[in-house]
Amino acid sequence: MKIRPPVLHVHDEKQISMKKLAQIVLVFVILSTSACSPDASRSVNENKAANEIPKTTVAMKTDDTAKKIVKTDEEWKKILTPEQYRILRQKGTEYAFSGQYWNSEEKGIYRCAGCNNILFVSEQKFESGCGWPSFSMPFDSTTCDYHEDNTYGMTRTEVTCKACGGHLGHVFNDGPPPTGQRYCINSGSLKFEAVK
Ligand SMILES: [Zn+2]
Repeated sequence: MKIRPPVLHVHDEKQISMKKLAQIVLVFVILSTSACSPDASRSVNENKAANEIPKTTVAMKTDDTAKKIVKTDEEWKKILTPEQYRILRQKGTEYAFSGQYWNSEEKGIYRCAGCNNILFVSEQKFESGCGWPSFSMPFDSTTCDYHEDNTYGMTRTEVTCKACGGHLGHVFNDGPPPTGQRYCINSGSLKFEAVK
C-alpha cells in the first residue's frame, strides 16, 4: 500500500506558504511510516491461532446503542421451550444432525428464538457437514457478541446474541471463502422466517 502525496493545483501552490507545505509533507512522512506499514499488522493476523476471534469480528465495535434485553430465568422459562432455554440460557448444545435447520435450504431470515433479533440470513448459510446450521457471517456487526470459551478442554469462540445475551454456538476459522468463517449455530437458538 502506498499513500500518494496530495496533488497541489497551481492556484493552491500560490496560496500555501512554505511553512504549511512543510507541515503537509511532515504529516505524510508520519503516515507513511506508521499507518502505512501493513506488513506488521498483516503478520499479526496471519499468526493468529485458528480458533481466535476472527478478523472481521475484531474490527466490530461494540454498539452501545443496542438494546439489551434482560429477563429473569423464570421469565425466560415462560417464553422459551425447555430445549430453547437449555441452549440459549444454559449454553447447551443440541446433538449434531438433530436440530430443525441443519440441512434446511429455505430462503429467509434466522432470528434469535429468545428475542427476535435478526442473526443470520439464508444467503450466508452453507452446508458444512458438521450437523449444525452453519453460516459464513452474521447478519451485521450489531448481531453477535464474542467470548473466549475454554470449556471441555478446548479454546473456542462462543457466539451470543447481542440483544439478549442468549448462547447461539461457536465460530471457527475453517469456513469457505471469502470470510473463511463458520458460525456453527444451534437450531434451538434460532427461529426461521421464510422470505418469498
Ligand atoms: Zn436474542
